[in-house]
Amino acid sequence: LSIEERLGFNKFNVDDDEAHITINKEICRTCTEKPCLYACPALLYNLNEAGEMTFDYAGCLECGTCRVVCQKQGAIQWNYPRGTFGVQFRYG
Ligand code: SF4
Repeated sequence: LSIEERLGFNKFNVDDDEAHITINKEICRTCTEKPCLYACPALLYNLNEAGEMTFDYAGCLECGTCRVVCQKQGAIQWNYPRGTFGVQFRYG
């Protein structure tokens, strides 16, 4: 199976009341490289038509990559989801 096919088995129990990752768009605006756009394996970081950073925590794989590659202190507030919420890996 390909990586994409394996990821397709994952199940997400999204916490609609509390985002486990939030971004500070003001700080993101000052970042020229924006490595999160390229590093997130779930492609959750994007730019809208206005060039503003958008982020959707719902499909997060909880890998922590964005937290590691981000160069702007305070741009990403990162926590694991509350108990029972988040990704459930189904294949490996
Ligand atoms: Fe993407 Fe991983 Fe960050 Fe989740 S923890 S938003 S999957 S890079």
